[in-house]
Amino acid sequence: MRQIAIYGKGGIGKSTTSQNLAAALSEMGKKLMIVGCDPKADSTRLILGGHVKQTVLDTMRDKDEDDVELTDFLYTGFHNIKAVESGGPEPGVGCAGRGIVTSINLLEELGAYSADMDYVLYDVLGDVVCGGFAMPIREGKAKEIYIVCSGEMMSLYAANNICKGIRRYAASGKTKLGGLICNSRLVDNEKALVEEFAQKLNTQMIYFIPRDNVVQHAELQRKTVIEYAPECAQAEEYRTLAKTIDTNTAFSVPTPISNDELEELLLRYVPVGG
Ligand code: ADP
Ligand code: MG
Repeated sequence: MRQIAIYGKGGIGKSTTSQNLAAALSEMGKKLMIVGCDPKADSTRLILGGHVKQTVLDTMRDKDEDDVELTDFLYTGFHNIKAVESGGPEPGVGCAGRGIVTSINLLEELGAYSADMDYVLYDVLGDVVCGGFAMPIREGKAKEIYIVCSGEMMSLYAANNICKGIRRYAASGKTKLGGLICNSRLVDNEKALVEEFAQKLNTQMIYFIPRDNVVQHAELQRKTVIEYAPECAQAEEYRTLAKTIDTNTAFSVPTPISNDELEELLLRYVPVGG
């Protein structure tokens, strides 16, 4: 079983990418589970055709811990992909990261990590790498990490920060970075910029996903692109991403850079006269 954590700045495309990746891997015959680790609880909406009725934290609020069952929060969607949302506390109360710790522990206790599972994908908010959000990598659950980014400054800033978190835990455990997934925002020289950034971080840009409006059309129908428009070019991109990740063997401990270095890198990619 490969346990993979997908990190990245909020809004960068983690949930879209991880669900399309899951759908494409399921087409290859893989058995998967997605664990949403974002208080937004929308990491599984496209796989399930709508929001989950109950998150793990909802269940914990409503029921005695001893009465909790897997079926309270574990759902099945497209191609039998299993889906769980950790959920979050009421706004302004408690720690969002704690839900993730609770979820993973409960999933383990209740036997959700079945032996026939090929992949578990954790879709994790990476704006803040607090102890809770680091849980999937801290305890060595996910041995593989991919960071979704674009050529935009704030997404690279977040990616660099996530690398600082990974570095901390990679030293003691076996968690390694498998690469950056560039989810294009049509930034100037984006591919070359993210490739050089990846190199500086001692990793690779494992894939460049084009920006395509079919993603929004599919999202409105609560579907992945793979399900909504299986013949389109974007679906093929997600299939290639899935094959690339399925065969990836390049894992590293990242080397984060300073903010000055990051800004200097970005400046070099501004087009002349821009
Ligand atoms: P995150 O999970 O990182 O917060 P989402 O996956 O929810 O981000 O994506 C944010 C928005 O970006 C969504 O509305 C989604 O439709 C859009 N999006 C993501 N990837 C692409 C893409 N490759 N092309 C076009 N739109 C995209
Ligand atoms: Mg998301």
